[in-house]
Amino acid sequence: MRDGHFLNRFYKCCATGALALMGIGEPAGAETLHFSGACSAGDRLTVAAVGDLLFHKKLQAQAYSKNSSFKRFFTPVLKVLKGADLTYGNLEGPAARGVGPNGRAVKDPGKRLGVVYGAPLKSLAFNYHPSVVADLKESGFDVLSTANNHSMDRGALGADRTVDTLRKAGLPFTGSRKRSDAPGPWHVITKAKGFTVAWLGCTYSTNGIPDPKNQILHCYKQKGEILSEIKALRADSEMDAIFLTPHWGVENRHKPGARQKDLARAAIEAGATAVFGAHPHVLQPWEKVVAADEREGLVVYSAGNFISNQRQTAERAGIIAVVELVRPVGGKARLAAAGYIPTWVQIDAKGHRVSFNTSSKGRTGEALARTLGLLPAGNRIAPKWPVVLPTDCENSVFTAPKGPKPDRYWVRNIDSPKSGRSRKAKSTNVWNRVFSGTSKRKRQRRTGSTR
Ligand SMILES: [Zn+2]
Repeated sequence: MRDGHFLNRFYKCCATGALALMGIGEPAGAETLHFSGACSAGDRLTVAAVGDLLFHKKLQAQAYSKNSSFKRFFTPVLKVLKGADLTYGNLEGPAARGVGPNGRAVKDPGKRLGVVYGAPLKSLAFNYHPSVVADLKESGFDVLSTANNHSMDRGALGADRTVDTLRKAGLPFTGSRKRSDAPGPWHVITKAKGFTVAWLGCTYSTNGIPDPKNQILHCYKQKGEILSEIKALRADSEMDAIFLTPHWGVENRHKPGARQKDLARAAIEAGATAVFGAHPHVLQPWEKVVAADEREGLVVYSAGNFISNQRQTAERAGIIAVVELVRPVGGKARLAAAGYIPTWVQIDAKGHRVSFNTSSKGRTGEALARTLGLLPAGNRIAPKWPVVLPTDCENSVFTAPKGPKPDRYWVRNIDSPKSGRSRKAKSTNVWNRVFSGTSKRKRQRRTGSTR
């Protein structure tokens, strides 16, 4: 209760100010992550990444109604999903034709909410009608992760048939495989505008459901394998970018934990271009990491829920992260710029859908203030296509706080504040105090999520 009062007080006293201080159009500065490739000449590729695609029962009921589909949830944001050269999301649950809640084959009931497609018996063991995959493809998604805590909700057969669904639809995916697939690398390659991009998905857990055939890539148990695979991809001269997409973190917690930070930083060091994480249902900060060989990497610790039926303000706030790669003639591709578009899960008489959040009032205004307090405010971009990403051509180098040597990690709200941080950076740490140490979060600090 005290925390609630504190939050209200924070919103009243600071949220409007935070919006004004950190809104679109703020000059590039300490609150903006810049990349040294910003103004290099060369070929360019734009990649968009969102968080979790979590179709709870209420959403499936809408998708299965007459003349409807899963496409209905994305209509307001289609221009960005379709505009990006590559668009990524996490499919949180099986899309397994005719697999019951016990993981056994049953007759396919068609697009109908029940024990086969839904989350029966309050178990939240998800399964989505396979049409979800074609609908996501038509909504602009080019690659999905299938590694998450719900991957094994319908057992080994469910994981097998989800792979069948994706292969049949021709939608690339990473992080899972069939029992009959030969063991080997876990990544998938996508090609766009002459760029070759590798994606590697993993999860912290499968909710305690056994994965005896190792059909799902596990972020921590298989960390060595993940880093080796990234190193091998980095050594491939054809590879322009490598994205790790981990499903990790503690639900409803805005702060990444030590294991997340360790894996993210090790992945960049090994050769990853960026890390796009999700699972906590809420946003977590961004971090720029500079590897020992001076390569710059971006870590999005959690992009939050993109679509779900979760109702708390922080659970309805997400982002579309957008990064741009540049490949100079004869050179290696690298990050040129990054930005994010705040999103909000709209829920009303017409159902659920993802919308752009540009509001400064009410609940959506609170959500936006929270987003701008957690992420580098100067990297917020307007919801239009083509996007205009923040660049700073005169100083398109690492913009860490001044010191004898640049930090390897440009950290916001992650590690303890160091001297030399700006007042604004300190003020945004209020969010961490607000969201840490509450009894609610402690209750939610558990593995084996069922949400
Ligand atoms: Zn999850």
